[in-house]
Amino acid sequence: MSAPPQETMPAIAVVPGTPHSLHATRLPRPEAGPGQVLVKVRQAGICGTDRELIESAFGMAPPGSDELVLGHELLGEVAAVGPGVSGWDPGDLVTTTVRRPCDCAPCRAGQADFCAGLRYTEYGIVARHGFMTESFVEAADQLVRVPKALAATGVLTEPLSVVEKAVQQAVLIQRRIEGWTPTTALVLGAGPIGLLGSLLLRSRGARVVTVARRPPPNAPAAILAAAGARYASLRETTLAELARGLPPIDLIVEATGSASLVFEAMEVLGNNGVLVLLSVTGGDELIPVRAAAINRGFVLGNKVMVGSVNSSRQHFELAVADLERFEALWPGLAARLITRRLDGLGAWRGILDKEADGIKTVIEVG
Ligand code: BGC
Repeated sequence: MSAPPQETMPAIAVVPGTPHSLHATRLPRPEAGPGQVLVKVRQAGICGTDRELIESAFGMAPPGSDELVLGHELLGEVAAVGPGVSGWDPGDLVTTTVRRPCDCAPCRAGQADFCAGLRYTEYGIVARHGFMTESFVEAADQLVRVPKALAATGVLTEPLSVVEKAVQQAVLIQRRIEGWTPTTALVLGAGPIGLLGSLLLRSRGARVVTVARRPPPNAPAAILAAAGARYASLRETTLAELARGLPPIDLIVEATGSASLVFEAMEVLGNNGVLVLLSVTGGDELIPVRAAAINRGFVLGNKVMVGSVNSSRQHFELAVADLERFEALWPGLAARLITRRLDGLGAWRGILDKEADGIKTVIEVG
């Protein structure tokens, strides 16, 4: 007697290595095994990385497959628990970290976000199908709880966790300077990462100037104004002009996706300041830079530049706590980052559409 055909469910995938191969596909419907939780996807967020995966700038299919299901930003709901699982009940809201370890030393020490071998896997990015499907199974101890009060913003936990790690890196590095706090911060970029970074720094009392290309008025500028941050357009000013009108800049968070802006940022960073780079940039642009001035400024000013990628469970937990704090400080504001909702996995072609004044698109899966 042949085995019954396995039940399948819809998913959205690319063929890594083939640009613009976004398509609908199907995955086997999973069941929770011992120690596992079956998670139903409620919302999957779309970010710049997904667009790069669609353009085939990077990405890798899981072993044995030639397609990769996208999605690394998740708000899920526990659907069922496998044998031996306690502490999770159907209906609980969850998310999960993106990266799973390789066998390098940081990965073995529980810091896959500092993977040295770059042989990690990542949900929806590297060798692991992502969340743009109906459900998946995960080990119970990998799940991060999202309070029900965050049903509207929980899908932002992953992008905020990336910012949490970035700011944490700056603070850890700056322990070298007695009494350092980021009093004046510049955030480059007013996409989801730049906006979440601006809200985080504002919530901690910093003076925040957020810089983007588009002139105001626009949706990001309105969100920033509501949180007491200033928005500046690079069509109306330069970083150098902006910095001249500000106190010394203690912290710059770069999230524009434009590598050339990094060198301007290095010039305007204040003495003892730290510049955190978050953009995974593509291309091979060559630009002239004021090398001696930048180098001299870094040496005489004890400046630091650091790259930061991914995030671990602690950053997800900080992000959940900060989303709750954002709600208390500015009710409903963080939810305004979600400017477009695609109605179900069947609306996958909408991922390719550009939204005029858009910030974050989420797929309402279930
Ligand atoms: C994700 C990170 C990931 C990085 C590189 C980002 O979009 O938020 O978790 O490590 O892409 O793959």
